Amino acid sequence: MNEQILTIVVPCYNEEAVLKETVTRLRGVLMHACREQLIAKGSTLLLVDDGSSDHTWEIIEHYIEEYKEVTGLKLSRNFGHQNALIAGMETARPYSDCVITIDADLQDDVNAIKQFLIKYNEGFDIVYGVRDKRETDTFFKRNTARMFYGLMGHLGVKTVPNHADFRLLSRRVLDELIKYQEENIFLRGMIPLLGFKSTKVYYNRAERFAGESKYPLKKMLNFAVDGITSFSIAPIRIVTYLGASIVGIGFLIGVYALIQHFLGHVVTGWTSMILSIWLLGGIQLTAIGVIGEYIGKIFKETKHRPRYIIEKQLVASKNNRFEKQ
Ligand code: UDP
Ligand code: MG
Repeated sequence: MNEQILTIVVPCYNEEAVLKETVTRLRGVLMHACREQLIAKGSTLLLVDDGSSDHTWEIIEHYIEEYKEVTGLKLSRNFGHQNALIAGMETARPYSDCVITIDADLQDDVNAIKQFLIKYNEGFDIVYGVRDKRETDTFFKRNTARMFYGLMGHLGVKTVPNHADFRLLSRRVLDELIKYQEENIFLRGMIPLLGFKSTKVYYNRAERFAGESKYPLKKMLNFAVDGITSFSIAPIRIVTYLGASIVGIGFLIGVYALIQHFLGHVVTGWTSMILSIWLLGGIQLTAIGVIGEYIGKIFKETKHRPRYIIEKQLVASKNNRFEKQ
């Protein structure tokens, strides 16, 4: 096999506190561990600034000036983690033989990258980084994540358990991935759909090196709802079955009420009224909500809006693979 060009894509949103360490460690990996695995000298880091409001972009610019293996992409505003990843991968695709995505906060073990490349050289097109232990995550995060992936599995969405967005994709996988033009992307569900030869590399997840999680509860919840509704119509089906069962129950109650009526039993009915009003009201609202969720998705997808907007793309001047803009 010839030497391969690797691009390491790093989404960064308000990561000024960690960037220095991230760049140092990833450059180290790129220049040593990767070189041992047939990764060419011209391989680069691509730092994607996802509309940060702190000094993330200035720091990225500084490293671009300083190191020729650092390149940067500035999105015009905050588009979200998944879109930042796609922006980086699409940008890197034309000049890369393979791409590795890794979070900026160093929770993923940079040393696993060498293992990824060993697998890549063995012929795997997709290498998933899988967390061995989640002890460094909070009890809450661990358990909500487990529930979410369990639910996804039951709804028929294939994901790799304990895998986040730390992975290697070969060029031919990227070529296929970009054909999925949906606006609402959930890479953890999309990539297993692509097929190809894949494998896992286990690593220990560390704590965030510095800074705070960019996934507060509200974002996590939105991520979960989007993940489910982008990949599965099971919730609509559940609502349909629920509706049908309630019609059945309603019919039985109707028969019972008529019998009572003809037997002359006067039913005061307050309890049953209140119960049905609340129960049915709740079910109907939920059903409308679920349907609305999908209509909302259709509405968004029909507009074919871009998934991200690039404001600036920078490479070091010594590196002439593409022009500074
Ligand atoms: N991130 C991003 N855009 C966002 C939110 C997060 O690019 O809108 C990046 C962030 O800088 C980090 C990665 O996505 O590199 C994962 O975010 P974080 O570590 O905050 O998530 P957690 O590990 O807490 O789930
Ligand atoms: Mg993190």
